[in-house]
Amino acid sequence: MRVLGIEGTAWAASAALFETDDPTRATDDEHVFIESDAYQPESGGIHPREAAEHMGEAIPEVVQTAISHARERAGGDDPPIDAVAFSRGPGLGPCLRIVGTAARAVAQRFDVPLVGVNHMVAHLEVGRHRSGFESPVCLNASGANAHLLGYRNGRYRVLGETMDTGVGNAIDKFTRHVGWQHPGGPKVERHARDGDFHPLPYVVKGMDFSFSGIMSAAKQASDDDVPVEDVCRGLEETIFAMLTEVSERALSLTGADELVLGGGVGQNDRLQRMLREMCDQRGADFFAPENRFLRDNAGMIAILGAKMYAAGDTLAIEESGIDSNFRPDDVAVSWRGPEES
Ligand code: ATP
Repeated sequence: MRVLGIEGTAWAASAALFETDDPTRATDDEHVFIESDAYQPESGGIHPREAAEHMGEAIPEVVQTAISHARERAGGDDPPIDAVAFSRGPGLGPCLRIVGTAARAVAQRFDVPLVGVNHMVAHLEVGRHRSGFESPVCLNASGANAHLLGYRNGRYRVLGETMDTGVGNAIDKFTRHVGWQHPGGPKVERHARDGDFHPLPYVVKGMDFSFSGIMSAAKQASDDDVPVEDVCRGLEETIFAMLTEVSERALSLTGADELVLGGGVGQNDRLQRMLREMCDQRGADFFAPENRFLRDNAGMIAILGAKMYAAGDTLAIEESGIDSNFRPDDVAVSWRGPEES
């Protein structure tokens, strides 16, 4: 089976080919090709109109590259793909509409089914797929989101989430304040290595958490001439300890003994080490996919798309509208049995 994936919820215009004999599990000979083109704002953060302009220019090119790759792999099979999967939401509406239009056009061109994928469930499923874990709890630590998901009775339930901004967006707001170019996460990681811990507010309420107070305090500290390296260290230690605490509580409450990480902030080495240590201490398994599957990418869309296609979970063109507020718990999971809770 060969599935084309198209991703474009915000900054990454990305297309991928996932080729496998068995989409239900990771196999040694499966093949994932990803072609991405990132939007880089000249100043400030992600501007929705500029991001959509980038998407409009970049999506046709990355899709064409992935289709050419599919044709090479198909060796004359026609059509070269069996289905087209696209990120249906959540994300920026103007970007999603471009991706949806491209996916419909390719599906009609090759006369193959269309699959609408929830971007946040894809962040989770790529970790579950590549780890081979049965029923993990997932921490999605991405730009626009931060939540814990666990599977029960046919849906991914939101066990806890941010009460305000996404974790990466919060970090990026601080780095914009100190004049660093987007994206801020990798710069915070670099500077934190040379810093001493500067205390910042720690806000966890049960299973939920908040970043807005931390960001205000971090901006204030930098205005008060606390060395930026120390603020970065304080940010990492505080935010990641909060995420680790809530992940541990999710494991404890669900009785799960597997944790997977998803999302672009998950590329952070300190976050991975804190989660791994917590899992080691409680005898749970931890898995973080390679970076190319953590940041936004079409590989995860193609992998989950293949599972959905194999389960018959496809969309009619006339029902394939995007949903910019598509929550993970809105998805009726077709590719796992209800007994697998
Ligand atoms: P979502 O997946 O919720 O739509 P998104 O579209 O912003 O979010 P992602 O690729 O998941 O995209 O995450 C991007 C975020 O990851 C940015 O906020 C960026 O600063 C952050 N990030 C990237 N690398 C690192 C790192 N090494 N440490 C911390 N944060 C990082």
